[in-house]
Amino acid sequence: MRLDQCRSTTGGLPPDCPVAVPRRPRPRQYFVGTMRVPYIAPWTGENVPPRTAITTRYGRSDMGIGYADEYGIADRRRGALWIRVSVNPGAGGPLLDRVHALRQRQAMTHMLCQYCGRPADDRSDGRYVFLLPAVTGRLITDGERTATPPVCGGCVPEVVRGRAPLRRGCVAVLVEDVTVWGVAGMVYAPETLKPVPSEDGGERFTLVAYDDPRLPWTLACREVVSLHGCTAMDLEDLTEQTAA
Ligand SMILES: [Zn+2]
Repeated sequence: MRLDQCRSTTGGLPPDCPVAVPRRPRPRQYFVGTMRVPYIAPWTGENVPPRTAITTRYGRSDMGIGYADEYGIADRRRGALWIRVSVNPGAGGPLLDRVHALRQRQAMTHMLCQYCGRPADDRSDGRYVFLLPAVTGRLITDGERTATPPVCGGCVPEVVRGRAPLRRGCVAVLVEDVTVWGVAGMVYAPETLKPVPSEDGGERFTLVAYDDPRLPWTLACREVVSLHGCTAMDLEDLTEQTAA
């Protein structure tokens, strides 16, 4: 089930409530030579951060950070203030090793393929494919958290053949269910309104759950989901299975 059918956007509806969701228009595809530019990659023409000022905000229940000119749901989702980024895909050149915050969130919310931006629910068994960093000696466990959107079956062969950029060594994971978890972002100190260093081992961002008291002080940069019913697979085996 896609997140946009229940959990992400409809708030009070029960988790299994079917909701009619119009299919999204097919996003424009960009290539560098024969290599597909990932849907979630930013472009140099989008690399101009809007001028914004972080300030203290008094919310309905908590204090936290906000923009001086904050604008409703465009800036805030589920209590988290989101980083502002320009949106102009195709402008300039692609930055293949980076992630566009809003397209990443869009992909996670609607379970879109991180490469082509189309729905990633194209497997006959209803499972999603995620590519997670392969860490020697660490097993993929139920509840695994990730900020990397899924990959559709059509794009898996491109990844294996090297026609789609793979960010790091990965293991493919088939996932039965995906739930919203929180965000990855920069946590601000209430006293100074300056970002504090990440607690996650040198990572750029800190993972903050939606029920974490630090959420009102976090500038969200990635949507994070948790994965359930996980089965790890070799990428080559997955490609053969997809072809079959
Ligand atoms: Zn795809």
